[in-house]
Amino acid sequence: MAIKPIITAPDPRLRQVSNPVEGVDDALRALMDDMLETMYDAPGIGLAAIQIGEPLRIIVMDLAGEEEEPQPRYFVNPEILDPSDDTNIYEEGCLSVPDYFDEVERPAKCRVKFLGYDGKKQVLDAEGMLATCIQHEMDHLEGVLFIDHLSRLKRERVLKKLKKEQRLAAAE
Ligand code: ZN
Repeated sequence: MAIKPIITAPDPRLRQVSNPVEGVDDALRALMDDMLETMYDAPGIGLAAIQIGEPLRIIVMDLAGEEEEPQPRYFVNPEILDPSDDTNIYEEGCLSVPDYFDEVERPAKCRVKFLGYDGKKQVLDAEGMLATCIQHEMDHLEGVLFIDHLSRLKRERVLKKLKKEQRLAAAE
């Protein structure tokens, strides 16, 4: 396993639409292991493959609390079915948008169809934090960031700040 560098906005790679995976093999499982390790190291609760530069429809996630056993989740080629009309608002953050958090409204429940770590088809009914986290990560597969759900003013302010920080870091 290896920790990979995480791409941050406004890197154009984060705007790519990720490609479906043909099937789950050992190479893909090795990528998922790297993604999980990178996410734990960050630390974060979810990571899409494009955030480490792989434009593939793969997500890893772990919503376990600090006192709980790790609960890694893997979603390959996830598809959202039946998003609910009722919504939830959570404060979201993103490893690709460092040090910024804001509230986003999303469907409160959804069903997700995907392939698991073993390549088998699975269906999961998600609600609460899990539903929000899945939808946040699914957005990454379409090249969408959580700040795209905010006002243009807020989004531009965040991106400007990130650009400035990256310029300063590069100049050091
Ligand atoms: Zn994110």
